[in-house]
Amino acid sequence: MKVILCPSCNSNEYESLYPKYTGESVTSSFEVVKRATLDNRLCKECGLIFNARGVRDFAEEFYSETYSLMLFSDDAEVQSYTDTGPVSQAEYSYKMIQEMVGISGSGMLLEIGAGKGHFLRHFYSNHSEWRLTAFEPGMAFEFLKEQLSDVEMYQTDYQGFTLEENAFDLIVALGVLEHVEQPLDMLRWANKGLKQGGKFFIRVPNFEKNPNDLFCVDHLSKLTVPTLHWLATKSGFEISASKGVGVQLYLVLEKKGIEDGKHPSAYKENRVTADKNADYAQKAIKAILSARSQAQKSKENFGIFGLATSGLFAPFIGKFDPSEITAYIDENKTMWGALVHGRPVGGLNFISEKNVKHIALTISPAYIEKVSAKLSIYPVKIYTP
Ligand SMILES: [Zn+2]
Repeated sequence: MKVILCPSCNSNEYESLYPKYTGESVTSSFEVVKRATLDNRLCKECGLIFNARGVRDFAEEFYSETYSLMLFSDDAEVQSYTDTGPVSQAEYSYKMIQEMVGISGSGMLLEIGAGKGHFLRHFYSNHSEWRLTAFEPGMAFEFLKEQLSDVEMYQTDYQGFTLEENAFDLIVALGVLEHVEQPLDMLRWANKGLKQGGKFFIRVPNFEKNPNDLFCVDHLSKLTVPTLHWLATKSGFEISASKGVGVQLYLVLEKKGIEDGKHPSAYKENRVTADKNADYAQKAIKAILSARSQAQKSKENFGIFGLATSGLFAPFIGKFDPSEITAYIDENKTMWGALVHGRPVGGLNFISEKNVKHIALTISPAYIEKVSAKLSIYPVKIYTP
């Protein structure tokens, strides 16, 4: 088999992380991939945590044929969980850009991986004097094309896009960097496209808050703050602002133009994160399996709270039929009515409606306390990692 080097520093020195797995797998937008390998590694040189296989094995086919960004409805989208409840990630990202970058007057914006155009719609309705360019490699492009006539747009990935150098004031990539095969390469590319002092605004899931991501086949890099600092310095950027909200991390990278700067390896800090997260991820699967076996024993229904990767992956790694799960319960309203693994997704009302008596929480540790408190008023047994 082909030797896979670290996608950021080309080192072949690594430590393997949980789980070692090949078989049916799940993606970040809730699709099932028939066969994929989870080969998570920690690079001993630069500290990048990455899946050496996953959709790397079939990336082109995956993004053109499988990765749907929830195309079953125009509104369906990933949401961010905040103190006041779930909010649209696109809308929230726009708010974060306003707060962290500040947008005024006119300028040139490029969005990488624009999905269904949710973010661009927010941006354009507030800044119609900006010139907008966007591209999207996946099936969502068809949606994008119909929705936004004022945007210059292309169906491609960043390698296929003809980038004008020093052209943009702002480049935006929301939920993209963790998907690309070579994150450092993409950052260097974006750096070229920006004017001096231009900003690259990114949103990525913070792996430190998201142990379930070890099961996700299309998040090829498991990004952490130390890794992002390393990557930014190596690609001629300086992180000028960063903000964590739940699992999401919002960063402003400012173009400095000093390429290949020196930055300490993220290995040491990421080693700690990797161990902690591998432990949590294993416990998350265990919680689901306990809920399932207790429900079986008492001939009652069991459900899973949260559309997190562990909850979708559990039937595969735990070798049970997804039809045993009575329902998925989630607070993201745009997912209500959808089917995941053929199982219905609904809100808290599902607990009584579907007579769910056992619920495993598969959400990020960042939300466990809050959700446990919320569920405490229901007559259900809760299983936490
Ligand atoms: Zn490396």
